[in-house]
Amino acid sequence: MGDIVPFKKKSVAKRSTLCANNHHKWKASKNSQFDVKKGKLLTIDICTRCGKQRNRYT
Ligand SMILES: [Zn+2]
Repeated sequence: MGDIVPFKKKSVAKRSTLCANNHHKWKASKNSQFDVKKGKLLTIDICTRCGKQRNRYT
C-alpha cells in the first residue's frame, strides 16, 4: 500500500487556488487607474466570495 494522506485540514491555500482558477466570481472595482509604466488601464477585480483582489490590465 502506498502512503495515504489524510484529508483533514481545510487549508486557506486551497480556497485561494479556487480563486486563482476562476472558480469564484470576480467583480470589477470602480476604482480603476491608469498605469503609466505599462501604459494600460489597471482595473482592480474583487472576488465576490472571499474578497480577494487582483489587478487586471485592460
Ligand atoms: Zn475567491
